[in-house]
Amino acid sequence: MNAVVKVRPELGAVYQQVDIPRIAPDEVLVKVRATSICGTDVHIYKWDPWSQGRIGEKALPQTLGHEVAGEVVEIGPEVKRISVGDYISAETHIPHPGDLQALLCQMHIGERMRILGVDCNGAFAEYFAVPEVVCWINDKSIPPEFASIQEPLGNATYAVLAEDNDVAGKSMVLIGDGPISLLAVGVARVCGVTNIFLVGKYDFNMEIGRKMGADHLLYANKDDVDRVAYIKDHTGGYGADLVLDMAGSPQALDEGFKFLRKGGRFTAFGISSETPAAIDYNNGIVFKGSQVHGISGRKMFDTWYRVRNFLSSGRLDIAPVITHMFTLEEYETGFNEMIKRPRASAKVVLFPDPAELEAAKKRRGI
Ligand code: ZN
Repeated sequence: MNAVVKVRPELGAVYQQVDIPRIAPDEVLVKVRATSICGTDVHIYKWDPWSQGRIGEKALPQTLGHEVAGEVVEIGPEVKRISVGDYISAETHIPHPGDLQALLCQMHIGERMRILGVDCNGAFAEYFAVPEVVCWINDKSIPPEFASIQEPLGNATYAVLAEDNDVAGKSMVLIGDGPISLLAVGVARVCGVTNIFLVGKYDFNMEIGRKMGADHLLYANKDDVDRVAYIKDHTGGYGADLVLDMAGSPQALDEGFKFLRKGGRFTAFGISSETPAAIDYNNGIVFKGSQVHGISGRKMFDTWYRVRNFLSSGRLDIAPVITHMFTLEEYETGFNEMIKRPRASAKVVLFPDPAELEAAKKRRGI
C-alpha cells in the first residue's frame, strides 16, 4: 500500500510503498477514506526539536497522521465492540489499562498512554491498524472529510465545555486563529455562548472565524484597539467569563488573564514556545479567583459523543474550516499550505482514493 512516511530525521516525508499492517489480537484494520493534517504532523514533518525529542531518529521510518475516518476491513480475535464494515474514527490517545487515570475516567491523560502517529505508525496510508479501545463508530450521515476532523473538533469541544459544560449565556475570548480555535468558535456558538471574541492575526482565518460565529474580531498584531479595554467595554466592565488560550504565546498568556473577569475560567490549550512560561500568578490567578483548566486531548468518549451529535444533527457546520482537500499523494502541497505564513489555511484533508476526493468536492460544490 501507499503511505506518507517519515524516513529521515530532516524536513519532509516520503510517499512510498509499505506493507499493509498486520493487526494484533485487540486491533482492527481500517481502510482510510479521509485523513487530515494536524499541527502535530507539521511538527514531525519539519522534524523540529519537539519531534526530535519525542519521537527520535531511532523510531524512523514511521507513518505520519492520526486524524482519520475509514472503514473496518478486518478485526482481531479479541475484538468485541467493532465489526467489519463499521465506519470509524479513532481517538488519538491510546490508553494503558493499568493507569490510575484509566480507572478515573481520565484515560486520555494516562501516564503510559501512547499517541497514534507519534508513538506508532499513523493513518496517512491506505490502511492503518488501531486498537479497538480507541475506535469510535461514526454516524453514517457524516461525510468522511468531516468525520476525519472530529479529533481536533473534540479538542475544541472539550476546551469550550471543560468539565462543567457551563457556558450558555456567557462571554468567551478565544486567542489564536488556528483551526482548533475556529472550530471552538462554532462549538461556542452552538452551545449558547452569547458574546464571542476571536483574537487572531490573519485576515483569511479571521474571516472563517466570522463565518463560524465570532461576534468580535480583534487583531493581536495591531495596536489600533486596546484589546483589554475593548473586551471590558463589551462585558459590562467585568471582562470575559471564559478565556481559551489556543496560541500559547507570551502575549496570549499575558493578555489572556487580563481579558478574564474575576472568578472566570482560563482554559490552557496552546503550547507555549517557552517553558517555564511567564504568567502573572498573583493578579491573573490568585486574586482573580480564576479556574485554570488544561486541555490535552478529549474526554473519552463523552466529547466524541457530543461531537458526533453536533455533526449528525446539522447543528454545527464545520465546512468553512476545511479550506483545502488533496489526494494523499499530494501530501506535500497540503503540508506547504499548513506551513505558509501569512496563514491562509485551516484544515487540510487528504484522500488516499482520488474518487473519494472527487466525491467530497462534489458535496462541497467545488
Ligand atoms: Zn490532531
